[in-house]
Amino acid sequence: MRMPLRKLLESWPVVRQLTDGDPLGLGPAAQSKRSRDLRPRIEDADHVVQSICPYCAVGCGQLVYVKDGEITHIEGDPASPISRGRLCPKGQASKSYAQSPLREYKVKYRRPYGTRWEELSLEDAMEMIAERVVETRAETWEWETEDGNPANRTMAIGNLGGATLDNEENYLIKKLMTALGIVQVENQARI
Ligand code: SF4
Repeated sequence: MRMPLRKLLESWPVVRQLTDGDPLGLGPAAQSKRSRDLRPRIEDADHVVQSICPYCAVGCGQLVYVKDGEITHIEGDPASPISRGRLCPKGQASKSYAQSPLREYKVKYRRPYGTRWEELSLEDAMEMIAERVVETRAETWEWETEDGNPANRTMAIGNLGGATLDNEENYLIKKLMTALGIVQVENQARI
């Protein structure tokens, strides 16, 4: 189909530069129809939630956009005095932390000498962990140190937390470990 001469002329960038008040061609005259029609993916979010990146101890501020109860986008929060709108690649990708199709929802277990992963229910896994903690603690409990001072500890169990644990979770884990007499408590975020 032949384009009318007038339309053809108007589509010429030089003409658009002169007629659109953009003589240097740095604004609307240089914009393609595709760019003009693009819409930000946050535009139709139901609401936005201020949050903190869970990955590391920097604690960058995030804006989490939500639609129909699902996260649609996460970006840096300019109001954060720590990160001032910036996120590193891990923080940028944290939507996948919540919604990746590769995310595991089942406990994976590989038994001693096993060659494959088995799926366990959370209840079974928790029971197994509890049984092992109780048994190991009973077998290795130290009332006293070698020189006779009170110890009340087991050196046979350790706990290593991950960087995605928040302050409150770490606080509770440390409380639990101390109550169990476990003294080797560490967190990957500090290593
Ligand atoms: S965005 Fe990067 S630097 Fe900031 S808290 Fe997350 S992982 Fe740490």
